[in-house]
Amino acid sequence: MELSYILNELGEDREMYFNSVAPPIIQTSNFSCKTVNALREALLHESEVEFYTRGNNPTTDLLEKKVAALEGAEHALAFGSGIAAVSAAVMSQVNAGDHIVSVAKPYSWTNTLLKKYLPKFGVETTFVDGRDAANFEKAIKPNTRVFYLESPNSFTFELQDIAAVTKIAKAHNIITIIDNSYATPLFQQPIALGVDIVVHAATKYISGHSDTMGGIICSTHARITKIFESEFMTLGGIISPFNSWLLLRGLRTLPIRMERIADTTRKVVDYLTKQPKVQKIFFPFLPTDSQYELARRQMSNNSGQFTIQLQTENLEEIDRFCDNLKHFLMAASWGGHESLIYPTAASYNAGNYKSDLPPNLIRFYIGLEDADYLIKDLDQAFALI
Ligand SMILES: *Cc1c(COP(=O)(O)O)cnc(C)c1O
Repeated sequence: MELSYILNELGEDREMYFNSVAPPIIQTSNFSCKTVNALREALLHESEVEFYTRGNNPTTDLLEKKVAALEGAEHALAFGSGIAAVSAAVMSQVNAGDHIVSVAKPYSWTNTLLKKYLPKFGVETTFVDGRDAANFEKAIKPNTRVFYLESPNSFTFELQDIAAVTKIAKAHNIITIIDNSYATPLFQQPIALGVDIVVHAATKYISGHSDTMGGIICSTHARITKIFESEFMTLGGIISPFNSWLLLRGLRTLPIRMERIADTTRKVVDYLTKQPKVQKIFFPFLPTDSQYELARRQMSNNSGQFTIQLQTENLEEIDRFCDNLKHFLMAASWGGHESLIYPTAASYNAGNYKSDLPPNLIRFYIGLEDADYLIKDLDQAFALI
């Protein structure tokens, strides 16, 4: 399917709603049936029909159709947040006594899910350095059911060789789940590389405007139906029709936003490579990065996140640099119009966010501003340390 068709036409039943160009927000909790037989049919096929918005809603269905098509998946299921999608995807594939092998340092709450929450139900996780696919194979136990991937992973952006990992998984009958939020379906196509289940924090690039949260799972029809009938309907982490509508609006401009962000990010990173106060840049698309070849092979472009390590470890200097950036907001999340920083110096003794990373790392997200505007700002802040 062509990208333009997916984003502009797929699933749009305009004649059903007065030929309006934008789809309606079907803000309802339930849908009525005309006859007992119609009600009987709805109950029998709840995963396929509009009956109750905790199950299906037309605005959300349209979002699911488009994201599934973008990922080359048969079907998708939307959630109220990215972590709701991650949790449902993982929990759908394990039972008490099972084992998961996960890439080290996944997204913070994914880490909490695997390390602290699932052990309550007798599910254990081994974390491995994902840069070498063989580490996944070495960690396999007789009860391993899932390989959990996030490529690139959060904060340090290490890649996993997705095709190599899925090959090992298939040989051992293990399900692979990947968080593809960083790359978006435009820059990385995990299903084509053999992955079974793709999840997204739609809050990030799919939204693109920092004004809604959402998550999505993409997989086969059979697997999505199974998740619908268990985790989706019982845990109830659904998205509201209005937030689905905002994500649909975000999708329309995803290609131009991603292209712009990719270009600006390369310009900013190029500036940072020449900045003597920067010791290291974590960015797989840097030609000097040890995973550059792999990045070029399995992703079609870079996104807007990277991390720098400052030369200084002096907390006072790190704070001064961050506090004096005028055009970068200091915030969690990413994927919106606005550039952001997130320093590890803030994570010391911070409960669930407590970090093992050194205090002189600063994660950047590059938004839709002009590169020169951002570089000038960085320049004045570097001059202060
Ligand atoms: C933000 C994020 C999530 C969680 O998404 P929420 O919408 O905040 O729940 C999951 N994975 C990655 C990689 C993220 O950056």
